Amino acid sequence: MTKTETKSTVLLKHHLKALRLPTVLVECEKVAGRCAAENADHLSFLLQLCELELIERERKAAERRLKAARFPATKTLDGFDFTARPSLNKPLVLDLTRGDYLGRRENILLVGPSGTGKTHLALALAIAACGQGRRVRFWRVTELITTLREAEEDRQLGRLRGQLAKLDLLVLDEFGYVPASKAGAELLFDVIATAYERTSVILTTNLPFENWTEVLGNERLTGAALDRLTHRSQVLETSRESYRLQDAKRRRRSQP
Ligand code: ADP
Ligand code: MG
Repeated sequence: MTKTETKSTVLLKHHLKALRLPTVLVECEKVAGRCAAENADHLSFLLQLCELELIERERKAAERRLKAARFPATKTLDGFDFTARPSLNKPLVLDLTRGDYLGRRENILLVGPSGTGKTHLALALAIAACGQGRRVRFWRVTELITTLREAEEDRQLGRLRGQLAKLDLLVLDEFGYVPASKAGAELLFDVIATAYERTSVILTTNLPFENWTEVLGNERLTGAALDRLTHRSQVLETSRESYRLQDAKRRRRSQP
């Protein structure tokens, strides 16, 4: 390598760093060598580098979105046995993974007994949304209420509400396992009301809608929350029998 080549390479790397093009920086010499060997023209060289930079950027952004969503587990629809859930409309679920409902700010309510795959489906749909560039956050309802109350005590509620308002999809898992306090129910309602027609919500619950007052403790608040969640929504009912139970039964049956 001549002295001037070395100097220009050093300068180039400096500029690429300043321009924040880390992948171009790492790959430029390799791609230049390949293009020279293949007699590719300058524009095709530049195109290849730009493509590599974009792919790497999207990969990192997707990684960041997944991390920020705080999913408790990774679940996919490939791993979901639809034959065990005949009450579910499989084509509808598959269609929902395309994420068009997010553009329309529609909600998905997953209703059914414990262990029937509600959280599994919510995770699969939310992970798919992340892959489509959507900002997602997963919360168990009790955890969200605790966080809201703590934020309120620390005078950070505005900040937390601001973060929630930036989301494209809010997952509220396990609505109905624990009754909320009056203050908790009001804070949760506020999140639901703010999300209305702005942020899609995927909610999972083991409680039939008519029993929601048991959780929110107030008929008027419950009615208003249900109005907002069910207006423009898909309700998916998982089966009546628990998957864990079926699985245990199947295992018992297959034992000698
Ligand atoms: P729920 O949220 O309704 O209580 P989960 O989604 O947590 O139920 O399901 C319990 C466990 O059973 C999870 O590990 C989930 O992956 C699995 N599961 C439930 N239904 C199915 C299914 N139809 N196919 C594959 N796994 C399932
Ligand atoms: Mg669950």
